[in-house]
Amino acid sequence: MPYYVFFCQDCGKESTQVLHIADLDKGVAVCPHCGSKRVTQKVSAFSAVTSKKS
Ligand SMILES: [Zn+2]
Repeated sequence: MPYYVFFCQDCGKESTQVLHIADLDKGVAVCPHCGSKRVTQKVSAFSAVTSKKS
């Protein structure tokens, strides 16, 4: 499951949420700490996967 890291602009806390890409388009992401919708998406954890080939 792809999950995304969000940063809340209101309370300044980060949260990790599992969302479908369609949910991102709808902007359903809210801060679980204060309920604010002023959250900015940070990098997806999946994109941080390192591929080492030797
Ligand atoms: Zn918040």
